[in-house]
Amino acid sequence: MLDLLDCNGKKDIKSMTLEEVTAQMAALGEKSFRAKQLYDWMHVKLAEGFDDMSSLSIPLRQKLKENYSLTCLKVVDERVSQVDGTRKYLFGLEDGHVIESVWMQYHHGNSVCISSQVGCRMGCRFCASTLDGLERNLRPSEMLEQIYRIQSITGERVSNVVVMGSGEPMDNYDNVIRFLRLVSHEKGLNISQRSLTISTCGIVPGIRKFAEEGLAVTLALSLHAPNDEVRKTLMPVANSYKLQDVLEACHYYYEKTGRRLTFEYSLVRGVNDNLDEARALAKLIKDQHGHVNLIPVNPIKERDYVQSGQKAIQDFKNLLEKNGINVTIRREMGRDIGGACGQLRRSYKEASAAPQCTEGEG
Ligand code: SAH
Repeated sequence: MLDLLDCNGKKDIKSMTLEEVTAQMAALGEKSFRAKQLYDWMHVKLAEGFDDMSSLSIPLRQKLKENYSLTCLKVVDERVSQVDGTRKYLFGLEDGHVIESVWMQYHHGNSVCISSQVGCRMGCRFCASTLDGLERNLRPSEMLEQIYRIQSITGERVSNVVVMGSGEPMDNYDNVIRFLRLVSHEKGLNISQRSLTISTCGIVPGIRKFAEEGLAVTLALSLHAPNDEVRKTLMPVANSYKLQDVLEACHYYYEKTGRRLTFEYSLVRGVNDNLDEARALAKLIKDQHGHVNLIPVNPIKERDYVQSGQKAIQDFKNLLEKNGINVTIRREMGRDIGGACGQLRRSYKEASAAPQCTEGEG
């Protein structure tokens, strides 16, 4: 069940669809054009509070305050890369948790990488986001807000969103689907579904269900190994789902949506980066419609994984290409400002032993 209450038990109006907002306003005795205005204040004008909604009467704003919460993230830290202009944000949630988001500039537009959960319970060995497990799921409004706040701060339109920050989107399925519908809604930020990507560690029932949603979103699969044996050493989820089943589900997603897939492969020295593994990977995905994105692993201090050397990365790429696979090497954006997925949040948590309220968590 979707939990649309915030941590104080109030209804989270920013997580509601326009139809739901309209029904809520009708229950308060308001006309439907008021619902449209409210929706516009939340999702287009990116208002930070009900009091900013100047086209709504003061009594109506008062009624809204009494009945609903308007989720708004607080900037706890902002870091700007001197190398490539990438910005990393730490946002504070109403219950004291912090989450991490990243803004990147590409020639085709601005992209934001958002978190879908506070922490993660998937346990991938090289990933900082999962070290303390899952704290809680993010609500749709908390995913939207990462984009809204960044767009307000930078003053620049966000054209691409990748759900590739902390968390496993398929482990917070209903909230993520609702988020995708809201962020691509024509009366909201209206980001094209083709410009949205969600990355999963490979939860088979989730991928199959996602294929049925009628969304034209790009699916990225965290593959990281060419066989189950190596994959199990990196990703505990590989004990639950066999690679063959994961890839079949991905192919089903392609057939249903027509969207080409992305296979993410983080290269770890001596673990998954030799040429036999490149050959096995090429064979594994040769019939899939998609490309491989090689990610030089970003070492975290809690683990002793080491990045593959430049030559090993290049050789791995060349071998895939020789076997007819499209490959890109992910540019390391914002290297100077907090490293990989979840590392900025982690260093913040270590530095501040701030108590966190857990009340009302879903
Ligand atoms: N749970 C989702 C999203 C996670 S993060 C998933 O598993 O896909 C997005 C990508 O970054 C995933 O491919 C993840 O495996 C990878 N990743 C996480 N930490 C990393 C690190 N330290 N170095 C390289 N890649 C990393």
